[in-house]
Amino acid sequence: MLFCPKCKSLLVPNKEDPKKIVCSCGYKSRQKKNLSVKEKMESSRRLEVVDKIIETLPLTEMECPKCEHLKAYYWTAQTRSSDEAETRFFRCAKCRHQWRQYD
Ligand SMILES: [Zn+2]
Ligand SMILES: [Zn+2]
Repeated sequence: MLFCPKCKSLLVPNKEDPKKIVCSCGYKSRQKKNLSVKEKMESSRRLEVVDKIIETLPLTEMECPKCEHLKAYYWTAQTRSSDEAETRFFRCAKCRHQWRQYD
């Protein structure tokens, strides 16, 4: 529960905009978002790292199903059982769309 820093009464979400909490004295505040700024920065940094790794992978001629660009990064990953075929992953060099292909 949150209390108004001005008059110390209980703050309630605004009916029209539940993201805002308001007080009968006119005080307005924003409720905390699910992700803190720090968490957001960390998750975007993690994505940047993945991008850097992927961009060192070999490029192959493969048509992107999304933007029809003809170059994609590719890598393979073994599925659970070793006698199953590898799954090939592709990532469009242009729009970064990612998809997989089974044999
Ligand atoms: Zn108040
Ligand atoms: Zn694409």
